[in-house]
Amino acid sequence: MSQNRSRVSIQVTILGANSALPFHGRFPSAQVLRSGNFKCLIDCGEGTQLRLSQENIKRNKIQVVFISHLHGDHVYGLPGLLTSYNHFERREPILIVGPKGVRDMITQIFELSRVHLNYELSFREISKGEAIPTVFSDGQLSVRAFPLIHRLPTWGYRFDHNPALYNVRPESIEQYNLTIEEIVRVKNGQPVERSGSTVPHDHLAFPLPPSLSYAYCSDTIYTESILPYIKGVDLLYHEATYQEALVEKAHETKHATAMEAARMAKLADVKRLLLGHFSSRYKTLQGHLDEARPIFPETYIAEEGTTWEIG
Ligand SMILES: [Zn+2]
Ligand SMILES: [Zn+2]
Repeated sequence: MSQNRSRVSIQVTILGANSALPFHGRFPSAQVLRSGNFKCLIDCGEGTQLRLSQENIKRNKIQVVFISHLHGDHVYGLPGLLTSYNHFERREPILIVGPKGVRDMITQIFELSRVHLNYELSFREISKGEAIPTVFSDGQLSVRAFPLIHRLPTWGYRFDHNPALYNVRPESIEQYNLTIEEIVRVKNGQPVERSGSTVPHDHLAFPLPPSLSYAYCSDTIYTESILPYIKGVDLLYHEATYQEALVEKAHETKHATAMEAARMAKLADVKRLLLGHFSSRYKTLQGHLDEARPIFPETYIAEEGTTWEIG
């Protein structure tokens, strides 16, 4: 039988992975995640619009922006981006997901600047104490938020792509003379009968592709409290602001080191680890890799302009 030709994947493009400042050709935090027709931003630091243009990514198609916390290096690009949509005559609604306060921050800026948007802007604020809320779902992709430990209320996000429908084998339509109703049944995993017996479902449809997962953890101190939420993901982005010589500073400022991120990846049994949120004191990032890889070999640097494919 032929192979399943419909390919599902999640792609994460790094727009910025520096902490605090744009420096050394690196930019504050922002990523684009795409899966099928779905496109979202994860964090929106200063310069995100410029970075979208540089990477030739159409900003109008972004449906949701997930904000981890309200430090400027994760959110100061958002008012500019949302205002620019007016110039691009956006009509589609956009959803902002983030910690409590993100709505006030944006609406007060718009009030003071007397900005009136031509499209619908809605917010899903996450409050402390909410039990692992599912903050977005479109039937195939679901996004859950989980608490990180930082100087402000901060949320990590886990993206899971769970294929909902089977793909019907084209040759089976003719072979079994499937009706439209039966095709819908096969897509939903339900049985079809011929001559009084059930046709094995794998004769009619390809197996469901595996589920895919991505977790974003920035900014946070090293904390094993996040393990249940990131367990086994295909790709983990974990902040690694410092190298190990500055572990004390990392703890004081509620950030993590490259070695700590690697320890977390190993404990959580993830497939690949992306390090990010680098302090501007590091001109190059080889030192981060050298410290992390002995603990977790599948460690990579979230370099600006790179795209990471899952699936
Ligand atoms: Zn930050
Ligand atoms: Zn921060």
